[in-house]
Amino acid sequence: MNIIDVHTHFFPNDMKLNRSKYCNLDPNFAELYGEKRINIPVEDDLVKILNKYPKIKLIIQSIGYKDFELSKYTNDFLIEMSTKYDQVKTFGSINITWGIEKCLQELERMYSKGVIGIGELHPDAQGFDILNFNIFDPIVERMVSNNMIINFHSSEPVGHIYNGKGRMFPSKLYSFAMKYKNLKMIFSHLGGGLPIYYFMPELKKELDNVYYDTAAIDFLYEPKIVKVFYEILGSEKILFGSDYGLIPIERAAQNIRDSKLTSDELDDIFYKNASNLLSW
Ligand SMILES: [Zn+2]
Repeated sequence: MNIIDVHTHFFPNDMKLNRSKYCNLDPNFAELYGEKRINIPVEDDLVKILNKYPKIKLIIQSIGYKDFELSKYTNDFLIEMSTKYDQVKTFGSINITWGIEKCLQELERMYSKGVIGIGELHPDAQGFDILNFNIFDPIVERMVSNNMIINFHSSEPVGHIYNGKGRMFPSKLYSFAMKYKNLKMIFSHLGGGLPIYYFMPELKKELDNVYYDTAAIDFLYEPKIVKVFYEILGSEKILFGSDYGLIPIERAAQNIRDSKLTSDELDDIFYKNASNLLSW
């Protein structure tokens, strides 16, 4: 089966070799990768995956940093990966605390080098509020005209606490999506449960540009949630994401297969929906 994995993370080798240096530089990297037992995936790991699965396509996402220079450094690494490997596209990072000018500059720089989106942003760790519309207005306007996609880390207002969970709850994601209806967006980790509210008929119409990825959901839910959300959202809105290197791609894919979807439904989630969204 063809697979597009819309949610993977890889880092420059130096970040693996000098983990503590980068943890000191950036609170989000420290929260997610501070513990030595957490693997930091690098280009060698990417090459192994691409060789093992010649048909797979991946989106490599940033994790959203605070520091401007570190963001540029990691964005350059992502640009390099998508330039080198046909099976790779990338989402880079900005931080609205830099101000509008710097964000637009970095956005344009990335766009001119083939970056197709922004994400995975972690607003809590990056130190900003996604409902700060004054700053987001010009950024979103530029992203829409560039046909770029935004991806937010999302989290559940209930349940266990984990590193990087934050407070990107459905109510906040909903307010952002309602403000920027023309912007294509992906809410990670099944949007913290936002799809439940699509039982309210108005949501399906209003949130037409919102997609949900399945990254790391086997840490959160029973597999059958994918089948349930597929039925609520309709066939087009769920995208397969693994959250590699946190979770091996094979394991994440098996978790989706365990949801008892039909083979056509699996094809939507594993391939078709992302292929349509990304024209890829
Ligand atoms: Zn996440």
